[in-house]
Amino acid sequence: MIGELRNIVGSDFVLDSNIDGYLRDESAKGVLTEPCRDVIVVKPASTEEVSAVMKVAYANRTPVYPRGGGTGLVGGAVPTKKGIVLSFERMKGIEIDEENLMCTAEAGVTLGELLAESERHNLFFPPHPGDEGAQVGGLVACNAGGSRAVKYGVMRNYVKGLEVVMTDGAVLRMGGKLLKDNTGYDLMDLFIGSEGTLGMITKATLKLYPRPGSSVTLVVPFDSEEEAIGTVSRILRGGIMPLALEYVENDWIQASAEHLGLRWPCDGKAQLMMIIAESSEEATYAECEKVSEMLEGKDVIMAERRQEQDDLLKVRSNIYEALKEHALDTLDVSVPPNSIGKLIEFVHFIEKEYGTRIPVYGHAADGNLHLHVMDDALERFVDIKRRIYERALELGGTITAEHGIGKARTKDMRMFLSPREIELMQEIKRVFDPYNIINPGTML
Ligand SMILES: Cc1cc2nc3c(=O)[nH]c(=O)nc-3n(C[C@H](O)[C@H](O)[C@H](O)COP(=O)(O)OP(=O)(O)OC[C@H]3O[C@@H](n4cnc5c(N)ncnc54)[C@H](O)[C@@H]3O)c2cc1C
Repeated sequence: MIGELRNIVGSDFVLDSNIDGYLRDESAKGVLTEPCRDVIVVKPASTEEVSAVMKVAYANRTPVYPRGGGTGLVGGAVPTKKGIVLSFERMKGIEIDEENLMCTAEAGVTLGELLAESERHNLFFPPHPGDEGAQVGGLVACNAGGSRAVKYGVMRNYVKGLEVVMTDGAVLRMGGKLLKDNTGYDLMDLFIGSEGTLGMITKATLKLYPRPGSSVTLVVPFDSEEEAIGTVSRILRGGIMPLALEYVENDWIQASAEHLGLRWPCDGKAQLMMIIAESSEEATYAECEKVSEMLEGKDVIMAERRQEQDDLLKVRSNIYEALKEHALDTLDVSVPPNSIGKLIEFVHFIEKEYGTRIPVYGHAADGNLHLHVMDDALERFVDIKRRIYERALELGGTITAEHGIGKARTKDMRMFLSPREIELMQEIKRVFDPYNIINPGTML
């Protein structure tokens, strides 16, 4: 088979040694997926090559593991059976359509490249899931979100067209540069968030927005967690719709700033970080004014310069990196936004009960918290996780808002889905991948 693969993509792009970098992702150390090392890494340069590789894999019933930037946190891209790791890193085509406010990007374009290219055309791609090394294929496959999802939503809200190579090598082209499309079942939507279990995403058409004429980042310190989190709903109900509205606690945001060698501008026990981005300076400052009025008596720290704002977002995005050495897992439970305070309260209660620290922060306006069980709680790790999941369930929440199930959470997922739902998912998987060769062991 390796000879056939070399004929398709060229010998330089088929690796069977020195492949350690393709056997892991960014999962925390307590939930690392044990990789199968007996895999071949294949790097196609086009949809046609992906299709030809899939035809070979299908004929041989060989598992294929799609891999993007490897920034996933649940082992989704990690190969666990002898087979092929299909890396999209060479598929870098990107085309901006200014008139339609869309971009068509191949799977291997990184988030950083997509942001830069959009900006070059005076356009804006709002989602920002932390690590700019994530690739378009991975962003779509994980239905990624991030800090800037409050106003315009998660990846699903941006994907208007998809090109996917199916298990047998057939190429499916769905949607297009359409804002409305009700033609039959929405097959395209099934691939968004499918974590690479239904097909290989080779290209995506994504919605862009005009670049905001102006933006400001605000940081507001509070004396207590309750006060900070209680303010989130007040802001939204008050008619302010920030691009980002993040909850952070001082110890962890300071740790991230220190890790990066940057300064965080305040040190209240709990804090909210908001990005206000509007079409003009006037509109942005009018929104900031509303925030100040609503939070009368609070220190509202304002960053206006681009570099200053980029640094704040970087510090927020790097909390995990700063804590990673001692983190066993990154939970990303989601609850109805008005219950997020109750979940935070419970996490602090668990901290005391188990005598450990559980760093907690997250996309407050989305009802999505990230929390880390740390390695001093190794023996109580499973217990702590179960208790937090049970509480999320009681509050009407779910196991994952963003990071997905991957290979690390397949058992835990069963707490949140009914047997019938899982059965339906298995049936869908069988329709798309009857021989279970696409990313086996992921999600189901
Ligand atoms: C510091 C940090 C912060 C993060 N913050 C956030 C956050 O705020 N919000 C958020 O949503 N996520 C976040 N993430 C998680 C991660 O960045 C996202 O899940 C991202 O979408 C993964 O993209 P990737 O290209 O790295 O995918 P990978 O890790 O390579 O793969 C992830 C999954 O997608 C599949 N896949 C990859 N490419 C394709 C393709 N072309 N076709 C089909 N399937 C494919 C893989 O098989 C795997 O199941 C964070 C990660 C880190 C390290």
